[in-house]
Amino acid sequence: MSQKRDYYEVLGVQKNATKEDIKTSYRKLALKYHPDRNKEAGAEEKFKEISEAYAVLSDDQKRNQYDNLGHTGFDQRYTSEDIFRGTDFDSIFRDMGFGDLFRSIFGGGGFGGYEERNRGQDLAYDLEISLEEAAKGTQRDIEIPRTEHCEICSGSGAAPGSQAKICPTCNGQGKVQNMRKAGFAMYVQVTPCPTCKGKGRIIETPCSNCRGSGILRKRRKITVKIPPGIDEGYQLRLRGEGEAVSNMGETGDLYVMVHVRQHPQFVREGDDLWHIVMLTYPQVALGSDISVPTLDGPLIVRIRPGTQVGEIITLKGKGMPRFRGYGRGDLQLRVGITVPEKLTANQRSLLEQLAKEINVEVQSRSRKFRL
Ligand SMILES: [Zn+2]
Ligand SMILES: [Zn+2]
Repeated sequence: MSQKRDYYEVLGVQKNATKEDIKTSYRKLALKYHPDRNKEAGAEEKFKEISEAYAVLSDDQKRNQYDNLGHTGFDQRYTSEDIFRGTDFDSIFRDMGFGDLFRSIFGGGGFGGYEERNRGQDLAYDLEISLEEAAKGTQRDIEIPRTEHCEICSGSGAAPGSQAKICPTCNGQGKVQNMRKAGFAMYVQVTPCPTCKGKGRIIETPCSNCRGSGILRKRRKITVKIPPGIDEGYQLRLRGEGEAVSNMGETGDLYVMVHVRQHPQFVREGDDLWHIVMLTYPQVALGSDISVPTLDGPLIVRIRPGTQVGEIITLKGKGMPRFRGYGRGDLQLRVGITVPEKLTANQRSLLEQLAKEINVEVQSRSRKFRL
């Protein structure tokens, strides 16, 4: 998973949630996404995501580190193996009646290993907008927790006026090679340098603002511009708005996942919008001018005499704007008929007269009483 959401958000708990809250929320989500129960695509990923969040937030020390360092700083200190180590999933799953599946997902040593790439985490944010906002485009201020470069040392981690030194053990490489003997075989193992902890540099006078890490945890307001015509499921990539990483690595990106709320009157299909107009029998039989809603406000539309139920009236160019293109889709009106549930005596007699006129048999009031 290359993008990481905030662990608190993943578990749907508040920042000050108690351990009990966190466990309850995790159990609920685990029941929903456990691969024993949920075979949908993406469920296993989701399950891993919530389990990782739980492993971190259920452990005081890891939680504290995460609160202070964010994903990037945290991931530099903990491998995936470290994250899951010490978390008592067994008893939770035993309580819930699940077997050993957890092991087969997380075990096997596929995790961990030495990550060479020094780049901050990409972050993801779910943003819900209305259909009107999707049509016109909008701007939204969102607030995300993330790590940023320390403004005092500009991310170097060294106190102002001092400089970081190249690590003498690894010559700035950040990694060392160890020879390991197993039986008759020799293995070369590459591990992070123990002197500089993989950083390649040593800071003798750490910046007091960030304690030498070069990064700080912040809540940052970001203005997101949403272009007109955007649809459900689109991702906007904001370059360099993800997590900063210490040791002057590249900052990650922020992905804003756009969700468009369902509209009470319109259903979207590509660039077209659909709307059902409910009319009465006289209106479709005799024709009428009716007011219909559009994204630009109400519009008078002429209903031709003899219009049929299910007929489609197309209003050209009254749909959604084409995303990063020109023009707009159409508004498709589908004609429906409303039938009164109750009739006045006069309406009844008029309808009975009409029925007689067009020679159809109907249930008259007197006959209904006889039954
Ligand atoms: Zn600093
Ligand atoms: Zn070193």
